[in-house]
Amino acid sequence: MLKISIDKKLFEDILLKKTFFITKDTTKYWKKELLEPTIVNNRISYSIKQVKKLTLTNGLGEEKPSIVIECKKIDYDGKKNQFSFELGKILEQKNTNIEENYKDNLIEQLLKEKAQLEEHINRDHLTNIYNRRKMEFDLNLFINQNNASLLNAVFIDADRFKRINEEFGHDYGDKVLVYLSNKLKEYAYILNGEVYRYAGEEFLILCFCAKDFLKETVSRLKEDIKYQKIFHPKESISITVSIGVSFFSDYKNKDIMLRKADEALLKAKKLGRDTIVYSQ
Ligand code: GH3
Ligand code: MG
Ligand code: MG
Repeated sequence: MLKISIDKKLFEDILLKKTFFITKDTTKYWKKELLEPTIVNNRISYSIKQVKKLTLTNGLGEEKPSIVIECKKIDYDGKKNQFSFELGKILEQKNTNIEENYKDNLIEQLLKEKAQLEEHINRDHLTNIYNRRKMEFDLNLFINQNNASLLNAVFIDADRFKRINEEFGHDYGDKVLVYLSNKLKEYAYILNGEVYRYAGEEFLILCFCAKDFLKETVSRLKEDIKYQKIFHPKESISITVSIGVSFFSDYKNKDIMLRKADEALLKAKKLGRDTIVYSQ
């Protein structure tokens, strides 16, 4: 295992997770340690040796603090003439007086990583709104809440979206979807709910509000989308949406509620699009 001696400040910053890198000037010693000569086509070339762990020490004497830390990557920067070490998790530590902080830091770091990972798997890459996976998770919670009787499902599908792609190109199609998701996010907030990308150009709002307020707001949403132009150098793009709505209180079953909203959406399409249909 490579052993690197570093100064006190840097050592503390690493322990407190304030820094994730250390560098070493390219001395003879480090070259010997880190460069691995290989012979390719009769010529010598060098690769940078990689190690999984590093021991970092600070200070002198028997009691000197040290940590064993994960080493994610060793790199060489030709301009600065330096080796750089990308650090990961702290694996062991000795004689560091921040022992009590260490556990806290580690837990904090793990919780942060877990939250980041969850955010990542619950969000749609293009629009950054929640995806269907998160919708299914949330819906299971929502139906067991005290206010479940106010739960509504609103399916929104962009009309003739294939044409948008064909006329303006897929990149602009993507931009329209981002615009649409931002608009829906704004309205989901007004409706006391959340919006999810359900499939390609189909979105779902799950929200908690009274029927009258929902109807009035969803009508406004439809008109708002219809009259807003999206910039394109050739000609500005406008779109309409078809909407299908169902109320949890009518069915008291989440799958039926979704199916009914989807059926209402299909009906809205059949009625000629740019329409809202409420399930019976
Ligand atoms: P309808 O009014 O019946 O909903 O017609 P439509 O063209 O919107 O519906 P259809 O389901 O036939 O086509 C959906 C189109 O949406 C096809 C697909 O290429 C496009 N689409 C789905 N996801 C994306 C995406 O992430 N980006 C882009 N640019 N297009 C997408
Ligand atoms: Mg569509
Ligand atoms: Mg669709």
